[in-house]
Amino acid sequence: MIIGGGIVGVSLAYHLARRGTTDVVLLERKQLTCGTTWHAAGLVGQLRATLNLTRLAKYTTELYAGLEAETGQATGFRQTGSLAVAASPGRLEELKRGASMARSFGLEVNILTPDEALKVWPLISLEDVVGAVYLPKDGRTNPIDTTQALARGARSRGVRIIENCRVTGINVEGGRVTGVRHEQGELRAPVVVNCGGMWARDIAGWVDATVPLHAAEHFYIVTEPMAGLSGNMPVLRDADACSYFKEDTGKLLVGWFEPRAKPWGMRGIPESFTFETLPEDLAHIEPLFAAAIRRVPALEKAGVQVFFNGPESFTPDDRYLLGPNPEVAGLYVAAGFNSIGIQSAGGAGKVLADWIVDGHAPMDLWDVDVRRVAPFQRNRRYLHDRTVETLGLLYAMHWPYRQAETARGVRRSALHDRLKAHGACFGEVLGYERPYWFAPPGVPPEYRYSYGRQNWLEYSAAEHRGVRERVGIFDQSSFAKFLVEGPDAAAVLNRICAAQVDVPPGRIVYTQWLNERGGIEADLTVTRESPERYLVVTACATQGRDFAWLRRQLPPQARVTAVDMSSAYAVLGVMGPASRALLQSLTDDDLSNAAFPFGASRLIDMAYARVRASRITYVGELGFELYMPTEFVQAVYDEIVRAGEAYGIVQAGYHALNSLRIEKAYRHWGHDLGEEDTPLEAGLGFAVSFGKPGGFIGREALLRQREAGLRRRLVNFRLEADEPQLYHNEPIWRDGRIVGRLTSGMYGHTIGRPLGMGYVDNGGEIVTPEWIADGRYELEVAATRIPAAASLQPFYDPRSARVRA
Ligand SMILES: Cc1cc2nc3c(=O)[nH]c(=O)nc-3n(C[C@H](O)[C@H](O)[C@H](O)COP(=O)(O)OP(=O)(O)OC[C@H]3O[C@@H](n4cnc5c(N)ncnc54)[C@H](O)[C@@H]3O)c2cc1C
Repeated sequence: MIIGGGIVGVSLAYHLARRGTTDVVLLERKQLTCGTTWHAAGLVGQLRATLNLTRLAKYTTELYAGLEAETGQATGFRQTGSLAVAASPGRLEELKRGASMARSFGLEVNILTPDEALKVWPLISLEDVVGAVYLPKDGRTNPIDTTQALARGARSRGVRIIENCRVTGINVEGGRVTGVRHEQGELRAPVVVNCGGMWARDIAGWVDATVPLHAAEHFYIVTEPMAGLSGNMPVLRDADACSYFKEDTGKLLVGWFEPRAKPWGMRGIPESFTFETLPEDLAHIEPLFAAAIRRVPALEKAGVQVFFNGPESFTPDDRYLLGPNPEVAGLYVAAGFNSIGIQSAGGAGKVLADWIVDGHAPMDLWDVDVRRVAPFQRNRRYLHDRTVETLGLLYAMHWPYRQAETARGVRRSALHDRLKAHGACFGEVLGYERPYWFAPPGVPPEYRYSYGRQNWLEYSAAEHRGVRERVGIFDQSSFAKFLVEGPDAAAVLNRICAAQVDVPPGRIVYTQWLNERGGIEADLTVTRESPERYLVVTACATQGRDFAWLRRQLPPQARVTAVDMSSAYAVLGVMGPASRALLQSLTDDDLSNAAFPFGASRLIDMAYARVRASRITYVGELGFELYMPTEFVQAVYDEIVRAGEAYGIVQAGYHALNSLRIEKAYRHWGHDLGEEDTPLEAGLGFAVSFGKPGGFIGREALLRQREAGLRRRLVNFRLEADEPQLYHNEPIWRDGRIVGRLTSGMYGHTIGRPLGMGYVDNGGEIVTPEWIADGRYELEVAATRIPAAASLQPFYDPRSARVRA
C-alpha cells in the first residue's frame, strides 16, 4: 500500500510490479503529480556526492530513456547531456573528484577546458571559468508525462492506482502496520509506504515515526524565446552562481539554489494544496538573477515569461529518506528529495521495491537510510532553521568535513563548555556537538575548507602526536550505550553477536552484529558487567539503527530487557603510553598490565567518583575508556586534566581520532563496514566465533563464504607521496585496472602519508593475499593517478604491541 502519487510513489509501484508484486494499491489524495512533481524543472543529472547515489541516478536515466518504448506513453525524456562549469579551482577539483568517482563504474564524464566548454554552450561568458565537466548521457524529462508513463507501466502489471482518496490514518497493532484508513473506508495491508512528499513528516507523525523534512520555496524563471538556443543544448550548471539553465522550446528556464532559502509551510502543508504555486518574490531572486546574467549575458535582454515559485521538501542533511521506519514494523518511507526527486525517483523506487520484497536493501544505502535520523529531528523549529541552509547545499561546495551552520548546539555533552574553553572546534553528528579539533590560543576555532591541507590539520597533527607519544583525552560521551539485562541476556546476545560474548564478567568483546547474509549490521563492543548484565557501546551515528536492530532480535519470550542508556553515561577516552601512569595517580585500584590487561573492564575509584574503566582503544595505544554517570564527568575530567599536565596531556578531537585509527586500520561502520560487507571480507575474521554453542545470526552465510573463498577484501593503502589528501571514494587501480575505491581516507601523521582503506576485487575471482601483494597500485584523485602501497596489515604497529603494553 503506497500513500502518495508523486513521481516517487508511482515509481515504487512500477518497480514493485516489475518485481512481480502486483497486489499493490496506491492512494493519491487528489491527482497524480499534484504535489511537487508537476512543476519540477525536469533535470535528470547523474553525478551525485556519493558513489551509490550516483549509481541510482545513472539507473534513473537509463530507465527514463526506455520508458516510452516500454509503455507507449511519451515522457519528454531527452539525453542532451549536461555541462557543469567551475569558476574556482576548488570547484574544478570537486568536479574532477566526482568525475573520477563516477568513471570508476562506467559513467561517461569528460573534463573540458574553458574553450571546449564554450563550444558546448556558446552563450556562456568564460570570464572566470577555469574548467568544466560534461556528461553526455545526462538528460531532461517532463515530470508529469514521466510519472504517467510509470503509472501506465504499473497499471498494466496489475497495480491499482486510486486518485481522490486521501489517507487519514495508519493502523498499527502490536507495533506492526495492519493497513490504512482513508476517506472512503479502510484498507488492510502488511506494508505501508509513505511517499507523501512534503506531507510525509506529518503522515509519519500519525504513528510517532520520524521523517524529518520541511518544505522550502524553490524558484525558477522561464524567458521569452531567445536567440542562440537550440533544442540539443545540454543543461548548464553553474554551481558557483547557484544557477542552472535549461533550454525549453526556444526559451531558457533558469533556476536557483540560493545559500539562504525560504522555508515554507511552518504550520503544516494545507490539505487543499493541489497544482498550486507560491507567490513570486522578486527581491529574493534579484541577486540570483544577476549572477545568472553574469554567466549567460544574453539573459539581460531577454523578457521573462514566467516567474515560478513552488515548494519542495528538504531534510536536515540534504539526503533523502528511504527504507523501513524503525518505530513501526511494516512502515516504509521514500520522501524528502531535496529538489532532485525526479532524477532520484527511478533508482529510489527500484531499490525500495527490492528492499520491501527481499527484506533487505539491495546495496549499501546508509547515505539515505531513514534509520540514520534521530527522533528530535522532527522538531519543527530545528527543521525550519536548518532548511534555510539545506536548499543551497546542493550547489554549495561539498568540502571535506563541511559542517552545518544552522540549527547548531542541539545536543551538548556535559563537558561542552570546558572543551570550548580549551579551543574546541565542534563538528556535529545528529545534533551532537563533538570536539573535532582544538585551536591553540589566538587561533579562531573555525574551519577554512579546501581539498588540500585544511587550516586545522597541523593542530590535529599535534593532538595525534600527543596521543602517540604521551597521553590525550577524548570526550567520547556521544557514544550510544545500551544496557541488556536479564537471566537470558548472555544467551540472547550470543546469538546476535558474531563473537563469543558469554565471557567472564569484567571482559570487553569487540564484535559485529550480522544479518542472515553475513553482512555487518553493526560494529561495536559488548562488556559483560555481571552474569546477567551487559553494556553495549556503539557509535553516535548509529544509535537509533543499532538499538532498533537489538530490539527486533530479542525473542518475545526471552527474559531480557534492553534499555538505551546513552544519555545517562559520559565517556572519557584517556589514550597514550602515559595513560596508565596518569590514571594510576588518581586511583588506588591496580591498573598494571598484570592486574588490568587489555580487554578488561571494571569499576574503579577515579578522583571522587566510581567509574567503569575499560581497557580498550580505537587509536592503537595503551588506553582506557572511562564510563560514569553524566553528573560525575566534569569533576573527573578536571582532575585528569590537572594531573595530566605532568604527563604532557593533550586535548584531542575526532579528526585526530580518525587519523590514529586509520593508521592502525581500525574499521569504521558506515564507511569501511556496512550491511553488504562480511567480517571475512573486512578482515575481521578474528572476531568471529564459528564454534560457539548455539551459533549466531549469519554464521551459515559466513561458513559458505569461507568455503568458497573471498572475492573481495578490505586493504590498507598508503600514498607514495605527501599530497593530495585522501577523503574516500577515490578509485583504486591495480596494474592499470580499477579494482575498487577507498571507503576511508585521512592523513596519517605518524606514518607521514595520506592513508586509506578500501575493498578490492579481482573481477569475480578469488582475492588471495598473494594477489594483493603482487599488484602495482595507484589511487586516482581528481583524474590523476598516484602510486600507492597496499597492505592487509595496518601500517602502524601491526602486532599491537603498544595496545597490550
Ligand atoms: C521549482 C522546482 C524545481 C524542481 N526541479 C527538479 C529537477 O529539475 N530535477 C529533479 O530531479 N527534481 C526537481 N525538483 C524536485 C522534485 O519535483 C521533487 O523532489 C519530486 O517531485 C518529489 O516527488 P514526491 O513523489 O516525493 O512528492 P510529490 O510529488 O509531492 O508527491 C507526494 C504526493 O503525496 C500525496 N499525498 C500527500 N498526503 C497524502 C495523503 N494523506 N493521502 C494520499 N496522498 C497524499 C500528494 O497529493 C502528492 O501528490 C524540483 C522541485 C521544485 C519545487
